[in-house]
Amino acid sequence: MVRAIVGANWGDEGKGKITDMFAEKSDIVIRFQGGSNAGHTIINEYGKFALHLLPSGVCYKHTMNIIGNGVALNIPNLMNELKSLGERGITPNIMISERTQILTPYHVLFDVYEEERLGAKQFGSTKSGIAPFYSDKYSKIGIQAADLFYPQRLREKLENILEVKNLILKYIYNKPELDVDEVYEQLISYGEMIRPYVTNVFEYLQQALKDGKNILLEGQLGSLRDPDFGIYPYSTSSSTLAGFGTVGAGIPPHEIKNVTVVSKAYSSAVGAGPFVSEFFGDEAEELRKRGGDAGEYGATTGRPRRMGWFDCVASRYGCKVQGATEVALTCIDVLGYLDTIPVCVGYDIDGEITKSFPVNALLEKAKPVFEYLPGWKCDVRGITKFEDLPENCRKYVEFIEREIEVPIKIVTNGPKRHEIIIK
Ligand code: GDP
Repeated sequence: MVRAIVGANWGDEGKGKITDMFAEKSDIVIRFQGGSNAGHTIINEYGKFALHLLPSGVCYKHTMNIIGNGVALNIPNLMNELKSLGERGITPNIMISERTQILTPYHVLFDVYEEERLGAKQFGSTKSGIAPFYSDKYSKIGIQAADLFYPQRLREKLENILEVKNLILKYIYNKPELDVDEVYEQLISYGEMIRPYVTNVFEYLQQALKDGKNILLEGQLGSLRDPDFGIYPYSTSSSTLAGFGTVGAGIPPHEIKNVTVVSKAYSSAVGAGPFVSEFFGDEAEELRKRGGDAGEYGATTGRPRRMGWFDCVASRYGCKVQGATEVALTCIDVLGYLDTIPVCVGYDIDGEITKSFPVNALLEKAKPVFEYLPGWKCDVRGITKFEDLPENCRKYVEFIEREIEVPIKIVTNGPKRHEIIIK
C-alpha cells in the first residue's frame, strides 16, 4: 500500500507531524522531490528535529528511509543531518537511489550569483542551489550518484560542464572561475561519504511492492509551489504533487492509493508572490505569535512568514491537483483566541466572483471574498476526540470540508506528536 503525504498550499502546512504519524506504521518512507531548501519539524522522544533532506522515518528502527531519484541531493547537508541524529543516538536505515542527482557547490554559487544579478527583481530564492540544480538536470548536464564511482567518466563530464559554467562565471557574473581538479576532488570525496547508502532503489521498491510493504511518499512544500500547477514563477523547481512520486521515486501510478493532503487552519507563506487572503499589521503579528513555531519562521529559511486567513479557493484547488483522498487540517489550536474568523470563499477579479483558482495574470488582481465564522474562544489543546471540540470549532472544520470538497479525516491541535485528532 502506498500513501503520499503532500501539502495543499505554500508549504509549512505541518506535514512533518502527519508524516511522522504515518511513518511509524510504514516499512519505507521516500523523499521523491526537492532538496534541503525546506524542511519538516518533528518532535518526538529524542527531541525536536528539523529534517531538510532525510525522510521522516529516520527515528524508527523498522523503517527504511529512501532518498529518491527525484531529489536534489546536497551531500554535506545530508551528512550534517546524519551527524545530528547520531549525536542523539539515532542511526537510521538509509538508501539513496543510484539515479539521484548531486547538488554541487557550484549550484549554490550560481543561485547566489543569479539572485545578486537580479538585484531588486530577485526571486527570493533560498540560495541553496535548487533552481540551478534542476536546470542542469533537465539540460542533461547533471551528475547522478552512481557517476561519483566512475572517476574517469566523472572527470570528463566535469571538464565539459565546467567549460560552459566558467564562461558564464567570467562573462556574465564577473566572478572567479571554477577549477576542474578542485571540483573533481570534492565530488570524489562526496562519493565516499554516500557510498554505503547508494543502491538500486528501483529494484528494491519493485520487490517491496510485490511483498505488500507499506510505503510512504513524503512531499516537500505544497501544491501552490508546483512548477506547473502552482503560482509560477513563485514556485519551486521540482513537482510538489503526489503524482510526481511515480517519477521521483519510481512507484507505478496505480499503486498510489491514498493521498493525504495537509492544509493549515489558516494560511501562511514564505517568500514573494500573490497571496490573496493575506492580512498585515498587528492582526498578522498576533496570529504569527500565537502560531509559535507554526507561525513565525520557515523551518529551513528562518524567514518570517506572511499570514493569511484560510483560503478555500486555493486549498480546494491545492487538494484537487494532488488528487487528495483525505485532508489533515493542522494548527486548529492557534485560532482559539479569535471572536470571528474570516474564511476566504471566493476571489473577486474585476468585479466577477470566482471559486476556481485562476492563472497568475488574474490571480495578481484577485481580491478575497470573506465569510465570517464565529470563533470558539478557548484552548482546544489536549482534546482527543472530534466530538469533544467546541461546537464552533467543529463547525469551522465542517465548513472548510464542504468548501474544499474532500473529507477532513485528521485535525491537529498542538505541535506535539500526539496532538492529533482522528475524525
Ligand atoms: P511542513 O513544512 O509542512 O513539514 O511543516 P512543519 O511540519 O515544519 O510544521 C510547521 C510547524 O508547525 C512546526 O513547528 C510544527 O511543530 C508546528 N505544528 C504542527 N502541527 C501543529 C498544530 O496542530 N498546532 C500547532 N500550534 N503547531 C503545529
